[in-house]
Amino acid sequence: MTNPRFDQVQGEPYGACRDCDGVFSTKEEAHQHMSQTHELARQAGGNAGHSVSIRNPERPERIRRGIGSIVSDVMNDFCNQVDDLINDGHVTEEEATEAMRFYPDFQEAWENWLAESRS
Ligand SMILES: [Zn+2]
Repeated sequence: MTNPRFDQVQGEPYGACRDCDGVFSTKEEAHQHMSQTHELARQAGGNAGHSVSIRNPERPERIRRGIGSIVSDVMNDFCNQVDDLINDGHVTEEEATEAMRFYPDFQEAWENWLAESRS
């Protein structure tokens, strides 16, 4: 038995249109509505179609968000620990950043961290 934590709620619509009364039971219906309204807008010389607010994401979307949030927690924890090394005077920011190039998966998170925390 799978844990229902990431399951889509049965019987609830997938999403609703922000621009009209459209309600969609599946992701495909929502995407169809967005491309149809986009096409109509394009023919009328405009650009923007209707946008859909997702109220009941499908399982893969829920899992992606769940995993994404774990990854982001780990990256934050990692950056905090490196920052502690710097703040405690064990390494300089330059030394830490230099060592980071051996860990490219974390390097980008670190560079974003620096950009945000040092600005
Ligand atoms: Zn619409």
